[in-house]
Amino acid sequence: MDTPADTTTFADLALRPELLDMLDELGYEEPTPIQREAIPPLLDRKDLLGQAATGTGKTAAFALPVLQHLPAGDRGDAPTALVLVPTRELAMQVSEAFHRYGRKLGARVLPVYGGQPIWRQLKALERGVDVVVATPGRAIDHITRGTLTMDALRAVVLDEADEMLDMGFLEDIEAILAEVPEDHQTMLFSATIPPRIDGMARKYLRDPVRITVGREAAFEGDEPLIRETAYVVPRSAKPAALGRILDIEAPTAAIVFCRTRNEVDELTETMNGRGYRAEALHGGMSQEQRDRVMDRLRNETADLLVATDVAARGLDIDHLTHVVNYDVPSAPESYTHRIGRVGRAGREGVAITLVEPRQHRMLKAIERHTRRRMDVEKVPSVADLRARRLEMTRAALHESLLVDGDHLDQFRVVVDSLTDEFDVVEVALAAIKLAHEATGAGADDEDVPDVSLQTDRPGDGGGGGKNRPPRRGPSAGTTRLFINQGRTAGIRPKDLVGAIANESSLSGRDIGAIEITSNFSLVEVPEAAADEVIQALRNTTIKGKKANVRRDQKG
Ligand code: AMP
Repeated sequence: MDTPADTTTFADLALRPELLDMLDELGYEEPTPIQREAIPPLLDRKDLLGQAATGTGKTAAFALPVLQHLPAGDRGDAPTALVLVPTRELAMQVSEAFHRYGRKLGARVLPVYGGQPIWRQLKALERGVDVVVATPGRAIDHITRGTLTMDALRAVVLDEADEMLDMGFLEDIEAILAEVPEDHQTMLFSATIPPRIDGMARKYLRDPVRITVGREAAFEGDEPLIRETAYVVPRSAKPAALGRILDIEAPTAAIVFCRTRNEVDELTETMNGRGYRAEALHGGMSQEQRDRVMDRLRNETADLLVATDVAARGLDIDHLTHVVNYDVPSAPESYTHRIGRVGRAGREGVAITLVEPRQHRMLKAIERHTRRRMDVEKVPSVADLRARRLEMTRAALHESLLVDGDHLDQFRVVVDSLTDEFDVVEVALAAIKLAHEATGAGADDEDVPDVSLQTDRPGDGGGGGKNRPPRRGPSAGTTRLFINQGRTAGIRPKDLVGAIANESSLSGRDIGAIEITSNFSLVEVPEAAADEVIQALRNTTIKGKKANVRRDQKG
C-alpha cells in the first residue's frame, strides 16, 4: 500500500554528511512526509508555505535546510537565520532541535524569549550566533536595542504562524519582517491556513512551494473494522500508560510503533522490565535478527513488537489484534498504513494512539483524513485496572470449573484439611488471592496524570471569559490576577494573552478566563505560575503602560 515516494531516504535528499551522521545517531530511519516534500525545495532556497501541525516532523523540515546553508568556515557573529515562534516553550524546543541536528556542524543557536534575563541573551548575541529562535515580542525588543543584527539574515521561518496571529503578534511580525534584507528565503508553517495566513503568505512569500500533509485517499478498498481510541498522556507518563492500557486491552499480539530506533530500543527494554514479552524491530538490525524476532512473535513467545515504520513495512502478522501508536504518526497517511494491519478479514482490530497534550491538531488532521472519529479516553485508573484483573481471574476460575471439573478432585484433600480450621469461603478467598497474584497482577500501580488536550484558547470562546458570571472564584488549580488596566486603557484579551505568553513561560493555552471591565482586568493563570507571571508583567508594559499586577483579593 506504500507509495513509491515513501522510499526516499535522508541520503537521497542530498544533505551534508554532518547532518546525515547526526540523523543516524538519533535513530531517524527515514524522512517524514513533510520532510520528504519540503527539504528539496528548501535546499534550493525556494520560499515555502507548509500546512503541518506539531508531530509531523516540521521542525526538522525547516531546520535541516537552514543548517545545510550555514556558510562553511568563519561564519561571523550575526545570525543567518531567524525563526519566529509563538511561545517560550516552543522557542526552547525548536532551539534544542536545531542544536541537536546541527551539533556536528558546530551550529550556534540561541533561544530568545521573554521572562529570561535579557543580559544573558545580550552576552550570547555578542559572542556570535548562527540561528536565533525568538518570540516576536522579544525579537522586537532586541532589534530596537540594536542587539539583534538583521543584516546577515538569509532565512526567516514563521513557525505555527496561525497561533502567532491568534495571539496578536501580527504587528510585531510585520515590523520584524520589514527589517530583514531583501534577498532572503521565507518559510511559513501553520497547522491551518485561514484567510489571514493566506494573506500573509501572499504578502511575504515569493512564488512559494505549497505543501500540505494529509492528501492521499485514506483507505483503499473496504474500510477495515477497527476500534480507534486515543489517550492523552504527557510524555513522561507514556510507559506507565502503555502498560496500563495493554493490561486492560489484553491483546493477543500487538505492534507498538515508535518514531526512532533509539526509542524502539528504550521502550522494548522498559516493557520487558515491566514483565511484558517485548521484541524490538528496527532498520538497524540484520535480516537474521529480524527473522528471529518474527519467529518469536509467530510462535507466541513474544506478544509485543516494538517497531519503527520502516522495519514494520510489509510485515503481515496473522494474529495481530492491536496496533499502538506510541507517538502520533508523522502524517495521517502513516496512521492509516499502521492501523490497516488489523481489522482484516472481518475480524475487529483495535488501534490505540497516545497523544501528548500539544498534539491535538495532529489528531484532528488524522480524523479529517480517515473521516472517522477516534474516541478520546482517559488512561484507565488503578481502580479500573484492579477491576479488570479481578474479572480476568474470575473468568479463569470459571473456565477451570467448566473444563477441569473432573481433575479438580485431587485438590479436595487440601480443602478438607483446611475446613476444620476455616470457613470454606475463606479458603476459597485465599486460593483466589494466590491464583490472582500468580498472574502478576498488582505490579504496576503508579499514577498516570490526568491531562487533556490543549484545545482551549482564550479569545475563541474556549478558555475565554465571555460567558462567565462576573467575579466568581477562580477554577481549581488556578489563581486570578488583578491588573489595574481595563477597557478605558484600550486593553483587549489579546493584549493580556500576548503580554503573558511573551514575557513568561506560559503559552496562550495555559491562560484561563479573562474578564475586562472598564478600569481593571482579571486573568486566570495556573497557580504554580502565578508569581512568575506577576513578576514578568510588572517588568514589562501593556499597551505601552506599566501595569500594577497582583493576586485578586476576592479570588
Ligand atoms: P515536530 O513535528 O517537529 O514537533 O516533531 C515531532 C517529533 O518527531 C520530534 O520528537 C522529532 O524529534 C521527531 N522526528 C522528526 N523527524 C523525524 C524522523 N524523520 N524520524 C523520526 N523521528 C522524527
